[in-house]
Amino acid sequence: MADKQAKLAKIQAQIIKDDPIPELREGATQLVFGDGNPDADLVFIGEAPGKNEDLKGKPFVGAAGRFLNEMLEMIGMKRADVYITNIVKYRPPGNRDPYPEEKQIFLPYLESQLEAIQPKLTVTLGRHSLNCFLPDLSISAVHGQPKRFKGRVYLPLFHPAAALYNGAMRQTLIDDFALIPAILKKLNKA
Ligand code: URA
Repeated sequence: MADKQAKLAKIQAQIIKDDPIPELREGATQLVFGDGNPDADLVFIGEAPGKNEDLKGKPFVGAAGRFLNEMLEMIGMKRADVYITNIVKYRPPGNRDPYPEEKQIFLPYLESQLEAIQPKLTVTLGRHSLNCFLPDLSISAVHGQPKRFKGRVYLPLFHPAAALYNGAMRQTLIDDFALIPAILKKLNKA
């Protein structure tokens, strides 16, 4: 745990040192690196920080985050049990979608975070996150289906912000989320 925490702290310091996208950093309040348990079996990956995340310095602390917390509770888990981060670590201005090159530039840091944590299951939230790892898959086709790729297991889910006010997608996300305990159990046995 201390070892993983130290590795994560090193990656965070490296981002600050590299300053990979100064324009993005200048428009943001602070770096939103990640939050939760470095020893987690389960890691969630969103897109980029929004307004609340930018202000608090933590991922998923706004409306989408509350929905994520509710779904975690539904499966008997808390935020402290999991690790949550985003592809892009600074808030894009006006909450625009991150540009492809911004995702590309931040991907090696995200890879290092996953390398440090070694989660059993990596949950991608939304298409940006899915397509960072599995570019050829469509979220509407593969949501809720675990995918094994290069030694990691991914579970693609809809993004909680997209599903929040869309009744059908919301229920689909809740149903997919409910699959997590059984998938983890299976992976823990393997
Ligand atoms: N949406 C994201 O993708 N990430 C956050 O941290 C918050 C909202």
